[in-house]
Amino acid sequence: MLTWQIGVDLLVITILTMAACGSGVENVADGVCKTGGCGPVSAVRSDQARYDNYRIYNVQFDNEEQIKLFQKLEDQSDSLTFIGHAREIGQKLSILVAAHRVADFADILKTYKMQHRVLTYNFQEKIDRNLREVIPEGIDPSKYDWHHYFHLKTIYEWIDQMAVKYPERLTVLDMGTSTQGNQIKGVKVGHNPSNKAIFIESGIHAREWIAPATATYIINELLTSTADYVQKLASNYNWIIFPCVNPDGYKYTFEHDRMWRKNRQLFGTCRGVDLNRNYPDHWNTTGSSSDPTRYDFAGPTSASELETQRLIEFIRNNVEKEHIKTYIALHSYSQMLMFPSGYTKERVPNYDDLQEFGKKAAAAIKAESGRDYVSGSLYETIYPSSGGSMDWAYSEAKIPIAYTFELRGPPDSEDLFILPAAEIQPTASEAFAAIRAIVEAAAEKDYYK
Ligand SMILES: [Zn+2]
Repeated sequence: MLTWQIGVDLLVITILTMAACGSGVENVADGVCKTGGCGPVSAVRSDQARYDNYRIYNVQFDNEEQIKLFQKLEDQSDSLTFIGHAREIGQKLSILVAAHRVADFADILKTYKMQHRVLTYNFQEKIDRNLREVIPEGIDPSKYDWHHYFHLKTIYEWIDQMAVKYPERLTVLDMGTSTQGNQIKGVKVGHNPSNKAIFIESGIHAREWIAPATATYIINELLTSTADYVQKLASNYNWIIFPCVNPDGYKYTFEHDRMWRKNRQLFGTCRGVDLNRNYPDHWNTTGSSSDPTRYDFAGPTSASELETQRLIEFIRNNVEKEHIKTYIALHSYSQMLMFPSGYTKERVPNYDDLQEFGKKAAAAIKAESGRDYVSGSLYETIYPSSGGSMDWAYSEAKIPIAYTFELRGPPDSEDLFILPAAEIQPTASEAFAAIRAIVEAAAEKDYYK
């Protein structure tokens, strides 16, 4: 009898433990076990996309036949996630291959004698590790740091707390709401009305978590750093920073699919516009898609998306009033510092200046962390693309210093967008060093007069 009793108790304990972890979608919906003692996230039945045994291949194109083949392959398959498009001889491209396509894909590589490397054999392991670096919602925002990743709600609570702490220097800004009704919240640091302003946009691509983390790092530095050069930057310029201009997408990456990129606009059976292809500057002319199932879908019309309209309206209303002279868009990955244009190889009027500032910024990063970043126009550095926010800010809003940063990791990263949290602080710090180099070089050339 006693033995039976103990047996039941053990059974009950086992069931309770399983219930606490296994069935608790809300408990682990953000990928973090809040109760402790949970097994791997893989044991959980939730609505999260999974990438078990998905591989990342890095392939090189040595001839036109291979390029055409891979263009066709991208068109035909939704089991292969291309990070960019096949375009030119010598180009290297990373492709995330679904587990059930690995044999088929390996056969293609062999048949067409493609040079390649496998960068990662099980992408889900990267995601699981990354989700363990997320601090659950509902924590005290004073615990916010640059060693973990944080939910949208926590980022916004941290901003509000900083506004209370630094009421003289920080104002909370509201760009309005997103497609799904989430606020697009930002800050203005500095209030000297004669200062020129630097605008920073981040998180337009949902899965690039390092971008919002870098934006909050910069806000924090401007408010708290005692370093002489930071205090100068904070007092000589006003800073307008929106860490998360695609809040719906960002939330979705925490709750459902770590690899989501676009906003969450509905198009029948699929969702999402690539907001960085939706701006009204040579919209949908190159490096974008008219197909809503594609990762770089430009939208049904230019500026069709609420998030795009919010940002355009904000810039139009403030570019003169706030003297916005610099526009920085934060992305990942590839380690690049790029300036207009994205849609054409034609050089913009101040190309030489932007190239010079970009090279100085890359040198500043090299000096700080040893990392290699390359600088150049977006078209010539990463790949042609149209409808980007930077091109619009430069050409229509007439903001003369405009850059898109691709932060860590390197172009052949094994992690793609899943940057380990240990790299947040150094990545954000080197991005800030690059911004400093650009601003100081532009000041020398009288861009902020
Ligand atoms: Zn991006």
